[in-house]
Amino acid sequence: MSRIVLSEVSKSFTTDTGVHTDALRNVSLNVESGEIFGLIGRSGAGKSTLLRMINALERPTSGSVQVDGVDLAQVSGDRLRKMRHGIGMVFQQFNLMNSRTVFGNIAVPLKLAGWKEDDIATRVADLLDFVGLGDKAFVKPRRLSGGQKQRVGIARAIANQPDILLSDEATSALDPQTTAEIVALLRSVNEEFGITIVVVTHEMDVVSSLADRAAILSQGEVVELGPIQQILSKP
Ligand code: ADP
Ligand code: ADP
Repeated sequence: MSRIVLSEVSKSFTTDTGVHTDALRNVSLNVESGEIFGLIGRSGAGKSTLLRMINALERPTSGSVQVDGVDLAQVSGDRLRKMRHGIGMVFQQFNLMNSRTVFGNIAVPLKLAGWKEDDIATRVADLLDFVGLGDKAFVKPRRLSGGQKQRVGIARAIANQPDILLSDEATSALDPQTTAEIVALLRSVNEEFGITIVVVTHEMDVVSSLADRAAILSQGEVVELGPIQQILSKP
């Protein structure tokens, strides 16, 4: 369980050729502990940049990001690494390592966090059962369907028992039936483990079936924020 607070967060990028982009402008929002929060917006709206702020992969140009009361700008080194272990991430293109088995992929974050081999084996087996891939441990990702790959991605993301799961267009490469299955899996991640989830998507049906509350971003600004039914009832 973790609470995320963004206060007046702005982020601008200037490329080598001098092109300036305001990716986020004065964004203030809270993600409450244990909720599923949707971030909606077109391509280029700033959704991924916002996610990368929560993971401390990007720093705000101004404003602050707090996770459980800790300002991420004040954290570095080992402490930051530990905080990142408490945040899992899933991706549109799954980001699995093709040279490794399903087991090997899910074991990576556990190895990085210093788990012992025996504990890793037990943990990975449990995770595979949870995501419904108990028979795929020693298969390479290229043998899996898109939905199965995302199940591996989710197992890897929650392996370290994170408090927060960040989902960046996790269903955008999947067909509607598979999308519904992954939505159901994300919901059970939230319900069974109390993991706070931030879901970035441009698919309105995904947020409407998954999120408790949502924000709509447009050109780096929050243009709507509230309970999902309220957001969806706006024209
Ligand atoms: P979304 O995830 O909603 O598609 P992004 O957060 O990826 O939006 O991007 C928001 C804006 O910031 C876009 O105009 C994008 O081109 C720009 N941007 C994002 N990251 C960088 C970067 N590292 N360097 C320059 N511009 C960037
Ligand atoms: P790597 O960590 O080098 O990517 P793999 O992904 O192939 O290795 O496997 C991860 C772990 O699973 C290793 O500890 C390996 O010993 C074990 N393993 C791999 N294949 C099998 C198998 N067919 N039966 C039992 N254990 C296996």
